[in-house]
Amino acid sequence: MAKAAKPKGVNPTAAKAVRPPAKCPICGEPAVPEFFPFSSKRCADVDLNRWLSGRYFIPAVESEPDREIPTDEDEG
Ligand SMILES: [Zn+2]
Repeated sequence: MAKAAKPKGVNPTAAKAVRPPAKCPICGEPAVPEFFPFSSKRCADVDLNRWLSGRYFIPAVESEPDREIPTDEDEG
C-alpha cells in the first residue's frame, strides 16, 4: 500500500492554527495579534514601505501599447 503519509513538518508560513511565538520580522520583538505578524504599527509600516518602494508594483493596464515604462537604471 502506497498511501500518502500525513504531512510531517508544519509549513512555517501555514502554521496559523496554533499560535507560535512569532517574532516581528522587522525588529524581532514578539508579534502582537493586532499587527500580526509585526510587533507594532510602526513595523507594519516599515514592511509596507518596503513593498511600495520595492518591485511589487501593479502592472499598468494594457490599453496603451505605445506607452513604455521608463526604467531608471534598475539593473542592480
Ligand atoms: Zn517590530
